[in-house]
Amino acid sequence: MSEMTAVVLPEWGGDLSIESVPRPEPGSGEIRVAVRACAVTRTVENAVQGGLSDDPALTPRVPGHEFAGVVDAVGAEVTGIEAGDRVLAYFYLTCGTCDACRRGERNRCTDFSGWLGVDRDGAYAEYATIPAANAVPIPDDLGFPAAALAADGLATPLHVCERTGVGDDDTVLVVGGAGRIGIHLSQLAANRGAHVLAADVNERRLAHIEEVTGPAVTTVDASREDVPEQVRDVTPYTDGPTVAVDTVGDVETLEDAWETLAMGGQVVTLTTHHDRSFAPLLKEFVVRETSIVGSRYATPDQVVRAARLFADNRVSPVVRREIGFDDVAATHRELRAGDTFGTTVLTPR
Ligand SMILES: [Zn+2]
Repeated sequence: MSEMTAVVLPEWGGDLSIESVPRPEPGSGEIRVAVRACAVTRTVENAVQGGLSDDPALTPRVPGHEFAGVVDAVGAEVTGIEAGDRVLAYFYLTCGTCDACRRGERNRCTDFSGWLGVDRDGAYAEYATIPAANAVPIPDDLGFPAAALAADGLATPLHVCERTGVGDDDTVLVVGGAGRIGIHLSQLAANRGAHVLAADVNERRLAHIEEVTGPAVTTVDASREDVPEQVRDVTPYTDGPTVAVDTVGDVETLEDAWETLAMGGQVVTLTTHHDRSFAPLLKEFVVRETSIVGSRYATPDQVVRAARLFADNRVSPVVRREIGFDDVAATHRELRAGDTFGTTVLTPR
């Protein structure tokens, strides 16, 4: 049997190591993808720590879900995809037959069977097999690292914008603006005409936002005590953000966002961290007619359109650096420390 190189997690919360493992064969309804780019992100770090599932039966596991590559082999019962096709991967493992899946809302599948890189091996490897239903074609003029980021890094912000109807009458506060979700959300919301405030916690991260977005986005220093005052200072013509998006799950910052929210405003949460909660007084919802909105990944259609947004240069994919297998574990240590910005992408070849 052929072997391949992969980064393997021995147990949830364990140390990643480079190993030679059997190259996977595509089963019925599956394809094998030669991985060309896989994002190394906080979402994967959360999964590695057992944040999505901590079932010991699922390890050892190859993590990594936000990836793109070239179809290398096709299993039985697969139609419409052939070797040589360029694809990216939809993150969720879904049934395809429940009401939500039939509507195209696969992020709301009621017979959900998990995540790539958690419930089956992901793409910190030379090859990954995925259900053919998870393959999304890549526009010809889009490179693999950008295609990988479209799968989650831009599709998730697109879902947020469509769930909340972000448009040119909105002021959007992005908490965690320098992260891979935040930096793409800030650009996307600005393109939709919104006034965007991107909050982050240190000078390097704030400088990174300014470098990427230019004058379209106003930065807010979330390391300071006076976040509500800063937000009021930069929104003189409105009564605050109409949409505040929490990309990091920091409860204090979320409370600041809630406090500054405009009448009728929406707070959006994306966090999957188990132990964090946020519970304003019920009265506050009524007095200001505010909402808290959960936003769960994206639909396959939104993933297709996210790839198109990158290919058409309407949003810039923010790739900080490309690395080989040797640097994956060190990048996860940096992610754990929390002081990174931009997205690191593993390019196995
Ligand atoms: Zn379903």
